[in-house]
Amino acid sequence: MLASTLLMGKRILLHVCCGPCSTSSIERLLSEGYEPVLFFSDSNIFPYAEFMKRYENLLIVADNFGLEVIRDEWDHDAWRKAVKGHEGDREHGERCSLCFRFNLSRAAAKARELGIDLFTTTLTVSRFKNSRKIFDEGEAFPGFLEIDFKKKDGFNRSIVLSKELGLYRQQWCGCEFSMGDRSAT
Ligand code: SF4
Repeated sequence: MLASTLLMGKRILLHVCCGPCSTSSIERLLSEGYEPVLFFSDSNIFPYAEFMKRYENLLIVADNFGLEVIRDEWDHDAWRKAVKGHEGDREHGERCSLCFRFNLSRAAAKARELGIDLFTTTLTVSRFKNSRKIFDEGEAFPGFLEIDFKKKDGFNRSIVLSKELGLYRQQWCGCEFSMGDRSAT
């Protein structure tokens, strides 16, 4: 069984991309004395049924750790506007940087609204994502904490924990342009 003890530490808003990536990220934050507030904000995910599927899997993780989840609205039209002109970019290119910025801007706004000084993201768990590119977008927002969740064996740990919890593990990153590209997860 996974640890389910909630440490009362410094609050940090954790932008969550999906249940599997949240597992080891939450575990690490708790072990470092943080009190994570989970924020599921992923208007990049397509279609809506996939967005909901990933959200429901996050609820399994949150329940395991005794945490609540705040779910952002699915505003895929706004996301499409944010990446306009880059639909055909290669994976890990400019479209992805714009996508990171879009989600992190919403996380920053939610942290402000809740009066939480710090925020970070589970996006860095993926071994397919360059954490530096995510940090480059995040540093534009006050309170963004650069935490590389793939470090300290975070990616492998997320796989172990996902299996323990029986989570759905998607085969593509999220948007319609990444479907069929395993390297973008
Ligand atoms: S591949 Fe992933 S990170 Fe890149 S734009 Fe699509 S959803 Fe965003």
